[in-house]
Amino acid sequence: MEDIGGIIGGRRVSGQLLCDNINPSDTGDIVSRYAKLDSTSVDEAVAIARNAFAGWANASPEVRFDVLDKAGDLVLQRAAQLGELLSREEGKTLPEGIGEAGRAGRILKFFAAETLRMGGEYLPSTRPGVDVEISREPLGVIGMITPWNFPIAIPAWKIAPAIAFGNSVVIKPAEATPAMALALVEILYEAGLPDGVVNIVLGSGSVVGEAIVTHKDIAAISFTGSVPTGRSIARKCAEQLKKVQLEMGGKNPLVVLNDADLDVAVNCALNGAFFSTGQRCTASSRLVVQDGIHNAFVEKLAAAMQKLRVGHALEKETQIGPVVDARQLASILDYVAVAKDQGAEVIGGQAIEGATPGFYMAPALCVSTDRNDRINREEVFGPVASVVKVGSFEEALDVANDTEFGLSSGICTTSLKHAREFKRKAEAGMVMVNLPTAGVDYHVPFGGRKASSHGSREQGRYAIEHYTTVKTAYVG
Ligand code: ADP
Repeated sequence: MEDIGGIIGGRRVSGQLLCDNINPSDTGDIVSRYAKLDSTSVDEAVAIARNAFAGWANASPEVRFDVLDKAGDLVLQRAAQLGELLSREEGKTLPEGIGEAGRAGRILKFFAAETLRMGGEYLPSTRPGVDVEISREPLGVIGMITPWNFPIAIPAWKIAPAIAFGNSVVIKPAEATPAMALALVEILYEAGLPDGVVNIVLGSGSVVGEAIVTHKDIAAISFTGSVPTGRSIARKCAEQLKKVQLEMGGKNPLVVLNDADLDVAVNCALNGAFFSTGQRCTASSRLVVQDGIHNAFVEKLAAAMQKLRVGHALEKETQIGPVVDARQLASILDYVAVAKDQGAEVIGGQAIEGATPGFYMAPALCVSTDRNDRINREEVFGPVASVVKVGSFEEALDVANDTEFGLSSGICTTSLKHAREFKRKAEAGMVMVNLPTAGVDYHVPFGGRKASSHGSREQGRYAIEHYTTVKTAYVG
């Protein structure tokens, strides 16, 4: 038990207002007790990050390489422990928790190598005897606000590029999952990060988050969370002309055509819609199914879904862990009730009791839905998928694109023609052919279009765009 409220200047800080961090698989298990800090702590963290910036930005890239590489090694070595803590804190299954911790380790190592690739361009000027050099420079202090659903991977994929390219950081993780972000920052310091380069401040979105977004000495914001919060952050950043990157929701379609391999399609839907309890912004929440395969697909998917074992995240047999908290469970059950009211036939979808008191629900498949039903318009963020029946590839594509979101879009087909056309015409940042809409690599860009994302891409080599600014130098 500890009352840690963050890490500022490389040192743990505590605070007054204490909260219990509860295990969603067993509400009697308090994972940690932490303190909520306030805007004074954000001011302190930003001042310290500003001081640390110059030394870090001007250090040899090898120094930054070593910290990130060593931190990556430590995370990978401790993936089992970190994964267990993650599963206890967030509720995803142990293999999913360990997998996420491993991913965070790989991300740190990927960006270690990127420190040595922060190159630029050289061009001859149109004026004889003049050289033009284009280089990239870090921005300064970056503010980060992260959600609970990937509590170590998301902080890793924001912090790693930020510090690889010479910035310093003030981060606020979600209130539901502070332990993982704290563990990551502690590992960075253990790996030799100079004091103050990464600072973490725990607290609420409206107090600590707001203070980070509006702080005049924070050069850029990277946010992952809901659309309403993202929108309000973008507005505030616009007022200050602050660079902002937002990753928000999804209502990702998985199209299943008549010519799909039925087993492939069912596995894609099962994995994409229900694994990680559906709490992924890339989850396949809309299944757009052609009439010729519709009944066979629904029957097989419903049977497989009903066999999924829901339970305590740390139990070996568990395939679907609990929902993250009571508020989220109530919201998901409400969406299921609305789907029924609007005429859907719902298979599963009820709250269930586990061996321990937790936020458990049976996955839900909502059949016979209309593309305009609420279940097909709004992000549920739970183990719930809806099926929309369509008559043709063209109609499927139209339904797939008929959403305010545009993160990930999938198709199951054995037709090369349809796969290629879907790849070209899907209005999404990521397209998956015969694969679940969720589950992406760490070394390539991640992000979407429309209300799913705003600003430049995260991850892979494209991450440099957000965390650096370009300088064009003329030398005569
Ligand atoms: P979710 O519904 O997944 O919790 P939110 O967008 O509410 O999504 O939260 C994502 C992150 O944004 C969390 O760390 C949360 O504390 C933070 N947050 C919420 N409201 C604000 C705000 N007004 N300003 C800044 N950050 C916020």
